[in-house]
Amino acid sequence: MPNTPKFVYAFSEGNKDLKDLLGGKGANLAEMANLGLPVPPGFTITTEACRAYLAEGAEPAGLHDEVQRHLSALEEGMGRRLGDPDDPLLVSVRSGAAFSMPGMMDTVLNIGLTDASVAGLAAQADDERFAWDSYRRLIQMFGKTVLGVDGDLFEERLDAAKRAKGASSDLDLDAADLRALVDAYKALVAKEAGRDFPQDPRAQLDLAVRAVFASWNGDRARLYRRQERIPDNLGTAVNIVAMVFGNLGADSGTGVAFTRDPATGKQGVYGDYLANAQGEDVVAGIRNTVPLAELERLDKPSYDRLLEIMEILEGHYRDLCDIEFTIERGALWMLQTRVGKRTAEAAFRIAAQLVDQGLIDDDEALRRVSGAQLAQLMFPRFAAASDGADADAPEPVAEGIAASPGAAVGRAVFDQATAVAWAARGDRVILVRRETNPDDLAGMVAAEGILTSRGGKTSHAAVVARGMGKTCVCGAEALAVDPRGKRFTARDGVVVEEGDVISVDGTNGKVYLGEVPVVPSPVVDYFEGRATPDGEGQDGLLTAVDRIVGHADRVRRLRVRANADTGEDAARARRFGAQGIGLLRTEHMFLGERRKHVERLVLADTDDSRAAALEALLPLQRQDFAEVLAAMDGLPVTIRLLDPPLHEFLPDLTELSVKVALADERGTGSDEDRALLDAVRRLHEQNPMLGLRGVRLGLVVPGLFAMQVRAIAEAAADRLRAGGAPHPEIMVPLVGGVQELEIVRDEALRVLAEVGAEHGVPLDLPIGTMIELPRAALTAGQIAGSAEFFSFGTNDLTQTTWGFSRDDVEASFFAAYLDAGVFGVSPFESLDRDGVGRLVALAAAEGRATRPGLGLGVCGEHGGDPDSVRFFHDTGLDYVSCSPFRLPVARLEAGRAAVLDGRAHGTGGGTADTR
Ligand code: ADP
Ligand code: MG
Ligand code: MG
Repeated sequence: MPNTPKFVYAFSEGNKDLKDLLGGKGANLAEMANLGLPVPPGFTITTEACRAYLAEGAEPAGLHDEVQRHLSALEEGMGRRLGDPDDPLLVSVRSGAAFSMPGMMDTVLNIGLTDASVAGLAAQADDERFAWDSYRRLIQMFGKTVLGVDGDLFEERLDAAKRAKGASSDLDLDAADLRALVDAYKALVAKEAGRDFPQDPRAQLDLAVRAVFASWNGDRARLYRRQERIPDNLGTAVNIVAMVFGNLGADSGTGVAFTRDPATGKQGVYGDYLANAQGEDVVAGIRNTVPLAELERLDKPSYDRLLEIMEILEGHYRDLCDIEFTIERGALWMLQTRVGKRTAEAAFRIAAQLVDQGLIDDDEALRRVSGAQLAQLMFPRFAAASDGADADAPEPVAEGIAASPGAAVGRAVFDQATAVAWAARGDRVILVRRETNPDDLAGMVAAEGILTSRGGKTSHAAVVARGMGKTCVCGAEALAVDPRGKRFTARDGVVVEEGDVISVDGTNGKVYLGEVPVVPSPVVDYFEGRATPDGEGQDGLLTAVDRIVGHADRVRRLRVRANADTGEDAARARRFGAQGIGLLRTEHMFLGERRKHVERLVLADTDDSRAAALEALLPLQRQDFAEVLAAMDGLPVTIRLLDPPLHEFLPDLTELSVKVALADERGTGSDEDRALLDAVRRLHEQNPMLGLRGVRLGLVVPGLFAMQVRAIAEAAADRLRAGGAPHPEIMVPLVGGVQELEIVRDEALRVLAEVGAEHGVPLDLPIGTMIELPRAALTAGQIAGSAEFFSFGTNDLTQTTWGFSRDDVEASFFAAYLDAGVFGVSPFESLDRDGVGRLVALAAAEGRATRPGLGLGVCGEHGGDPDSVRFFHDTGLDYVSCSPFRLPVARLEAGRAAVLDGRAHGTGGGTADTR
């Protein structure tokens, strides 16, 4: 026999680590079976068989026989044959891929029931109603999933049957009603599918397996995968499991359970149970479920056994497990388990609890949480949500998709112009729209939060809000938004008019009437030093954060620095754990009162007047630097020389033109204004992002960079003489070729030597460059000859690599790009590894080849993005720099990166970089 692959695994042959081959469901069913837990017997068809089926459009050779062998073994073990008219074995056919894709693919229960075997089932169970109930369920699920009949048509007939009986629940239908329903369903199938419901049990099985295979390529599943960045070529496994019945009467039922509260992480009994029900009934809301704790009263032995099994599973998986079970006439069966999803706070609490219980170590605890979760815990929240007291918690009037976290309170407005106008007069507003588009941008900027009734996580509103860090709830479909009438109608007919105050919780998608008080996150209080873990009223949340972030600090190799421009920012950054400043922007030092000096600099037509303008700026800059160097004493401070184009500091072209024209008409025009207008015209650029900025200013505006370097040098010298430990580093922006850097560097070295001599202190400050243009990355080997460090400016590098300007594209077409799957996440949010990341890696390697001790860091926003931090760790950078608020996230992710690549360092990250 040629060696055809093995396509079918009995549960006894699988285990939890075979998810890629058996899917998550199959792997975990095997694991439970092998632990000796009561799992109905069954087997799994591999994802490989699915891939082969999808490639060839037919079952791969040998699959049919292999399924038959496993089916026969199953029949043997059960003492029943599939669909046997006297005593039928029934099975479920269940999809299950390596990644959980909730609701994307389907399951068919009760396969094996036919016109003949339904009687056998009734006889064996001694329950006519049960048999017909099972049969109608089969035709319904099979009709919809396998034969493609619209599911609503079945629901309509079920409702009609209930109505005819005056019944409110499916339980009120008796055997005869259900039998009639089966006839109606069969007629429906014949009409809609153009074929009869199949009466051959094995044919039912094969058709169902094929439908599950094919569901991998369904529209819903494809879209879901694109959004979740799950590869398209994995395929799904198919599980064939002997049926157990929760619909056999009051002593039967089905339920779901969690081993801990997935919302808070608390230990206890969590779940729902529904008596006399099958499969999805629990979650489908057909009847009211009871809390799992009730089961103790209903069926104590099953309840005790369930708790015992939950403990076994927790001990075995060493994590919160989520479980599906069914009770058939007092016998408990396990139908599924997996490591359960949980909220951010539960993730931290559970990880810390498990360490305390000795189930996992600190490295593992670090793997179990994520930077994204920590970021979520740092947003302000509504007071009611934070203390968990439901007593006087307000009732939401609507719920939507939690698209961008945060807690926002403001007056409802329904168009962007009102949002802008009201915000300008000092009102806090929430922009409410059906959906947003690029025209709404100004209103979104002005609003505290955004609420839409349509669209999902990748809608325009969601994408733009996340990019801006604004609270957003989208897709609150119960809202009827009337933009012309300037009002919306919510649950129970509540009407909110323009100007009414609402509160929007972007963390859970809830919307409230009126003002719900907002409190800072206790986790931020902790990082700020305003709350300590021991004194907390947070049920162990702060202790957990403290423990896990502390461990990250011990094991990480990457250092973290902050992007901070002022002494105040620097001080905050230090509290948040900064080990220096990776980006100090100097542009804010040219604004406000200081604009007039910039105007004079631009207008200067002699060396003397230019020198005078720079002379005026020097002491101001020196003072700015002195403050930051004091706040960051002992730690490196990377100062970027002026980056934006000069016209950003000059009056607006249109306004100035009007002013000059009016003045000229009145005969009151000044030469100075006219000269300024000439300068503004001269400096005007079509595309400032690619114009006269960065290092180009240093080459074109004589004395500008020299003045800045002198201010840095003098501030450092003063501090040194006062006994401080300043470590400024001079960074040149937007270098594209080594020649540019050489010219600026020569000048800087000259100034440093001068100041050093004047003050009698040696000043050998490192001079380096940003790498933010593709050409800089591609010639990094040359540039490193003149740079002591590189700092990757990944914002500009992303713009210049993709060739799009962020301000223009994010609002106009990113939502469409995300929907179309061009990228799964904005490249400004998470580093584009394939393109931009490749340039970073190349520049790092070629730079270090020239200069082995070359310092490497990143100062774009990606420095605080969880995914990107992992990449920077893997690429061997020395540090990431991000906004102070993101520092804890960066620390945590740097620690995770170290434990995930198995090279935890133990000392590295925690020590200050004082190079
Ligand atoms: P999903 O992936 O959507 O959770 P499942 O394959 O788990 O779908 O099945 C849907 C429902 O049917 C679940 O409630 C599950 O517990 C139930 N179910 C599946 N197989 C069986 C079986 N062999 N006996 C009884 N109930 C089953
Ligand atoms: Mg399930
Ligand atoms: Mg830049």
